Amino acid sequence: MISFWILGAEVTNLGEFAGFGDANILTPNCCAISANRMNTESPLQYPFAQLPSPGETIEVAPGVSWLRMPLPFALDHINLWLLEDGDQRVIVDCGFGNDATRALWTQLIDARFLKAGVSRVIATHHHPDHVGNAGWLTRQFEAPLWISQSEYLSAHALCDGAAGQGRENMAALYRRNGLDESHTPGILKGRDHYRKFVPDFPMSYRRICEGDLIRVGANAWRVIMGYGHAPEHATLYCESLGVLISGDMVLPRISTNVSVPASQPEANPLRLFLESLSRFSALPAQTLVLPSHGLPFRGMHERIAQLTEHHRLRLAELLEACETPKSAAEVLQVLFRRQLDSHQILFAMGEAMAHLHYLYEDGALRRIKDETVIRYQRG
Ligand SMILES: [Zn+2]
Repeated sequence: MISFWILGAEVTNLGEFAGFGDANILTPNCCAISANRMNTESPLQYPFAQLPSPGETIEVAPGVSWLRMPLPFALDHINLWLLEDGDQRVIVDCGFGNDATRALWTQLIDARFLKAGVSRVIATHHHPDHVGNAGWLTRQFEAPLWISQSEYLSAHALCDGAAGQGRENMAALYRRNGLDESHTPGILKGRDHYRKFVPDFPMSYRRICEGDLIRVGANAWRVIMGYGHAPEHATLYCESLGVLISGDMVLPRISTNVSVPASQPEANPLRLFLESLSRFSALPAQTLVLPSHGLPFRGMHERIAQLTEHHRLRLAELLEACETPKSAAEVLQVLFRRQLDSHQILFAMGEAMAHLHYLYEDGALRRIKDETVIRYQRG
């Protein structure tokens, strides 16, 4: 496993994304800029500099423990959380569905840390590093899976390549947005990735909804839904502890992947994402944020301002580039300014389309469709 610190995964874009179970990581200039700023004079505070060792936990708030699981790609790790529920625990997110992660879960079970059992498994959203072991864990503990309806159905659709979630649909959408035909075989090659790393996704669930209060031991966690990264991503806020389990919605050092999904070619996920971020601004400034990647931190309002500015700058650059008609494929170099490999291009296409769609719906760009390619032009 490559070290998180050596690799510098914190200056990379979040590459885990629906259907890209073993995806590479995109490293756009835009994210490096944002991270560099934070490296020099970060307004964020990181109260827990020490990382949990593999198979160990660190308590970050009364009754809330942090564990870290490996990821077999450049993002390197995911943070998972255990909440005390009487003698039992609630698991929040499950880790990637591979042997390495299951071995660490087994270590925790054998160490009797989970000796009294698990009352529930809560998943923030359907991406493979979050639900990869949902089937395995719920079976191990005979515990129910708590997840939003959209995320539950998305996981099953991706497992089955149904509901427009198949790679053929993605390849067609990206071709329509200017991606060269030569990338199609690479896109189709990944058609089994999701099922491979999310084996045995549960066939039943307990639905969680916006505003739900989930009682866990002495605490109540309010569900705040976020949009734009996944269809109905749950975050959990505990007012009495001053803690937000933010999933992938608010990350300290990397920007969350915001992509147009293949099943929603007209989607405007960037608008959804920015609106969701603004809702988190209503939480207290001193909230301890527990993100899925990176370190727990305080300074959420500052981080939200950084992320908002990051996207505003990208939109301004795209607007300038679209003085002449451009497809999503033709603006990749504007957004990412370096050579992208075949996997990275897929994430980049999704992100480029998300930004173009935002400008189009805002009235700043017009959409020009010819028989083969969709392009955008200012005015
Ligand atoms: Zn995600």
